[in-house]
Amino acid sequence: MTQPTSGPGPASAGELPFDPEHDPKASYAFEPGYVKALTDRVVSSTGETVTAYAPATGQPLAIIPQSSEADVAEAFERARRAQQAWQRVSIDDRAAMLLRLHDIVLDRQDEIIDLICWESGKARKHAFDEPLHIALTARYYARTAHRHLDTERRIGVIPVLTRAEVNHVPKGVVGIISPWNYPFTMALCDGIPALLAGNAVVAKPDAQTMLSALLGAQLLEEAGFPRDLWNVVAGPGRELGTPMIQRADYICFTGSTATGKHIARQCAERLIGASLELGGKNPILILRDADLERAAEGAVRACFSNAGQLCVSTERMFVADQVYDRFKEKFVERTKAMRLDAGIGWGSDMGSLISQDQLDTVTAHVEDAVAKGATVLAGGRARPDLGPYFYEPTILEGVTPEMTCFGNETFGPVISLYRFHDEADAVARANDGEYGLNGAIYSRDTARARMIARQIRCGTININEAFGATFASVDAPMGGMRESGQGRRQGGEGILRYTETQSVASQALLRFGPQFGMSDEQYAKVMTLSLRLMKKMGRP
Ligand code: NAD
Repeated sequence: MTQPTSGPGPASAGELPFDPEHDPKASYAFEPGYVKALTDRVVSSTGETVTAYAPATGQPLAIIPQSSEADVAEAFERARRAQQAWQRVSIDDRAAMLLRLHDIVLDRQDEIIDLICWESGKARKHAFDEPLHIALTARYYARTAHRHLDTERRIGVIPVLTRAEVNHVPKGVVGIISPWNYPFTMALCDGIPALLAGNAVVAKPDAQTMLSALLGAQLLEEAGFPRDLWNVVAGPGRELGTPMIQRADYICFTGSTATGKHIARQCAERLIGASLELGGKNPILILRDADLERAAEGAVRACFSNAGQLCVSTERMFVADQVYDRFKEKFVERTKAMRLDAGIGWGSDMGSLISQDQLDTVTAHVEDAVAKGATVLAGGRARPDLGPYFYEPTILEGVTPEMTCFGNETFGPVISLYRFHDEADAVARANDGEYGLNGAIYSRDTARARMIARQIRCGTININEAFGATFASVDAPMGGMRESGQGRRQGGEGILRYTETQSVASQALLRFGPQFGMSDEQYAKVMTLSLRLMKKMGRP
């Protein structure tokens, strides 16, 4: 949540109604100078600032310097200079820095989680997923660096005489535009493979969650990455996005489908690549042989992690007729028992939404559904008594296609329950709509669930788990089909997107043309004969 401060002026905490670094009444425990050390990392020469507020309490949190187009240009220049030297650093040295980052993130998880909680308003247990995911990502890429990046031998056209190899050359400077919902992991997780592959980064995190992203930049430097390899700019995406795209060699975007399409058009204009991790309207299927206790427990995580502000969060739940009533009872009971709390301790099951905009969307979707005949089984109201943007975890039944929340992403703690009669019907309804990000299936027969998974048009499918099984299996690529995106993060796909594929082939003895006194016609005959021979020998 951000608001412009009084306009141009020094980025000083003294401008706030109170000073969060010193005020004893503030709920934050920043050491003096802590926030300033983070915000000093923003590439900014404008003198303009924006105040960030803590969503859970509405109190001011930090003053963030703002970047101009000239600052974006400066960030890219710094990055380009740093990348020239970085591409010569060995893969082993780069990987060693990632292993140091792994340790730093685990050692300092309390600090990271505190900051995420203050800045995003999410519950501590949901904030924990962020350092966890970064540690997993850093270790995975460090340990698999050679597998992805080493030069590979390929089949040369003439056995023995043609030696063909493929190099994975860094793109150069990658622009990363990230959202507010998982502010630490979304700022860093895509940049880790970019750095490992020999690139520099210019990052533009969402304006509402700059501090978590800036802490990520600081930890990278502490792990050994040169400071100018990762440059952060701050400001509205609609103003900084275009100057970034004009200078980047590749864009990694995470955010809404509407913005993703806009970015894709601009990248196409320059013929640069882009990966787009976008929205979803994710389904869960509860089959009739599901372990219902496990499914109800998983459903709470699937729907209400980070108050549903999670790209892979479930918003549509299809339950087999035979178990619908029993499942519903368990799920509703667990949802009603959830503890909502504005504190940053472990006691909360769900925190705040991030902003008034988010609260307005959630409220509008639920009010629209109720007005058109849906039933509220749990939740269904805002909780201003807890904080300005709290909204109860909400289960709806009887949602129909004319209701807004039927096909549109709410991106909040609202789930629609539906019955299904047979699996073909469930699969068809799961595939309904334009999105295709994440799905989940609960069944005791995992072999059957895997068969069903292949029929669902989603980039990731979790079996007997909500979303964590695929999200944390960082060797498996992750991303969306259809309007949920293009390209993949994680795994080989997640690092090779930041490289250009370069083929090098050297040729010994024979040339690709007549020799030994042959005519063109004789050469063509010899080549035809050798092609037939190679097929007979089983050569690919
Ligand atoms: P958003 O598209 O409004 O903003 C995301 C980022 O893009 C922010 O940094 C923003 O400043 C920037 N931006 C906005 N307009 C821009 C423009 N014209 N040019 C360049 N940058 C611009 O998204 P949001 O509403 O803040 O985030 C929530 C959405 O993100 C949801 O739809 C959610 O599903 C999606 N999301 C997807 C994933 C994923 O991995 N698939 C992860 C998290 C969030």
